Amino acid sequence: MRTAALLMLAALLPGGCATPTPAPRVPTPVIADGSERLPVLKPIRVGPHSWYVEGLPGVASQGNQGYNSNAGFVVTPAGVVVIDTLGTPALGRALIEAIRSVTRQPIVRVILTHFHADHFYGLEAFKALDVETYAQVAAIRYTDSPEARRRHAQRARDLMPWVQARDRLFTADYWIDGHAGFTLGGVRFELTHLGPAHSPEDLIVQVIDDQVLYSGDILFAGRIPYVGEADSREWLATTARLLAFQPRVMVAGHGRASHDPNRDLVLTRDYIADLRARMARAVTTLTDFDTAYAAEDWSQWSRLPAFEDAHRANAYNIYLQVEQEALQGDAQSGDPP
Ligand SMILES: [Zn+2]
Repeated sequence: MRTAALLMLAALLPGGCATPTPAPRVPTPVIADGSERLPVLKPIRVGPHSWYVEGLPGVASQGNQGYNSNAGFVVTPAGVVVIDTLGTPALGRALIEAIRSVTRQPIVRVILTHFHADHFYGLEAFKALDVETYAQVAAIRYTDSPEARRRHAQRARDLMPWVQARDRLFTADYWIDGHAGFTLGGVRFELTHLGPAHSPEDLIVQVIDDQVLYSGDILFAGRIPYVGEADSREWLATTARLLAFQPRVMVAGHGRASHDPNRDLVLTRDYIADLRARMARAVTTLTDFDTAYAAEDWSQWSRLPAFEDAHRANAYNIYLQVEQEALQGDAQSGDPP
């Protein structure tokens, strides 16, 4: 296994001052494996070198062709660094087209913030370019896991023809253990493992020169977060650590980038805290989940995208976690179970 030490070698690459990139020309990508057109990926500039494309609200669906998450890219004089690759191979190709619309620099490196389907299934398109892919070491076995196969089968069912059962799941070439950084074309990148929060391998990427931070799914903007198996207590603590970075711009894994993260990107924190408080009340009063869920007024969250698809399952997962925490707490304090 090659580690972060290799990343440091990149610091020796020749650098220089960034030249301004031209205004974006929005492409209409033509895809090779279907007659339908993809959603148009419009590059949005958030710093001298830093860009992102913004996925559509809600969960991945036929309607949005799996385009429900963000991806970033950073243009340096020595090549382009991509942060996440979107949720289908075709979207990966569309992202490459979007990058091509703003620079002719080669794409040299991909960093994955985590291994959820909507953020890395586009990696196939980048593998064809022979890029180096980096991710956090907690995910080193993910693509060989039963969980990955289950998720892939679900996506192939729900997102045909954009995801197909015969597609191969690609993974990283280099694994980062702890903190890592590199300089490319004079632009400094810092990669920090903030997981386990939304996933065990959550990796955030800071573009130091631009004061831009790509947070992956530790923060969701403008939609109900996806909790899944995440440890909500850890996640809550991590949102506080992340907001303390105070970048000029933060690009979350979903939704609009923010110039004021402490105002715009607190939804994830507030949502998880609210769910934990309500479910803790249910657990304390020995109320079963269905009864507790039905008795709660969810109108504070119900208008947000992905509520119908994600909220009840989020509440249930958090109920189980809080129950488990209560049992452990009792065990530690010596109270009878
Ligand atoms: Zn995710």
